[in-house]
Amino acid sequence: MDDLIIEGFTVAPGQRLKARVPALELADGTVVELPLILINGTKPGPRIYIGAGIHGDEVNGIALVTAALEQVDPAGLSGSIVCVPVQQPLALQADHRLPLAQFLKSPLDQVPADAWTCFPGDAQGNIAQVMAATLFRMITKCDVALDVHTPTRGGKYVPIAILPHHAMGEHAKRAEEMAHLLGTGWIVRSERGMYISDGILCVEATRAGVPCFTFEIGEGGRLDMDFVETGTQCVLNLLKGLGMIEGARLEPEVTHVMSDFAGIRATHGGILVTLVPLGARVTKGDLLCRILDVYGETVEEVTAPVDGLFVRATTLGTVSRGERVATLGVL
Ligand SMILES: [Zn+2]
Repeated sequence: MDDLIIEGFTVAPGQRLKARVPALELADGTVVELPLILINGTKPGPRIYIGAGIHGDEVNGIALVTAALEQVDPAGLSGSIVCVPVQQPLALQADHRLPLAQFLKSPLDQVPADAWTCFPGDAQGNIAQVMAATLFRMITKCDVALDVHTPTRGGKYVPIAILPHHAMGEHAKRAEEMAHLLGTGWIVRSERGMYISDGILCVEATRAGVPCFTFEIGEGGRLDMDFVETGTQCVLNLLKGLGMIEGARLEPEVTHVMSDFAGIRATHGGILVTLVPLGARVTKGDLLCRILDVYGETVEEVTAPVDGLFVRATTLGTVSRGERVATLGVL
């Protein structure tokens, strides 16, 4: 096995290193650093990039990738791991999806504000583009990649793997195989929407020859140890499936492969009461949620527009007209 060399750090076979990569400079001279966990195995195998926390309110992802890597013994590892547990530290500092302070100060300069949508990035660009370029440099030194998310604050997902567009060829096919190895039991293989747009981390990584998909789990802004435990198991499943660590994978009883998301939005403002448990199978016309006005009267009954699986709940107490109240995965 060779040394693992990333961003100027060298990790000998059988070693683990925690490091920090300078990424941005702020007005007061503070240097924003990306945390790195580098693990070099003792046997040949793939090099995997694992990223989390590119949105600052997605703490479950940070907790689960670090918990999974704690269980990896470098001496028993085949291949190597490059992990960035917080891919946008400025957003984490804001405890928000985006680095809010910089965005509010100069919104014109800071658009695009979401590094997740800016890949492959631009080293001469704004904060989001510089961050994406730095991350992409590390991603493209790896063979495969995993990008871990939690839905933004106010949302809760079942543990779900979301694939890049399958028309992207052999690397997208490999990403799909990896999503099955993750073993969440929930996979979305969509042909439209935000997750497969140009610029999204997993899309551009896959296009660059590094098969990658998005893994969403749990609720934004809250640490949920049940989800962390599930997600940890999934990351270990993937490492086992790739032949990087020993041990049997925990297979889900059933894997739902969905072809699309159906997002449902409120047509009235009010207090949101969700009536269906997350993960439930629903039939077109089933009552999903009720919206109450401030007098307690029902102003809207939200029903399933299609048959599907209730994969993403809104956990906000109130909604305005146009806000998302539920998302179904379409089978
Ligand atoms: Zn996210």
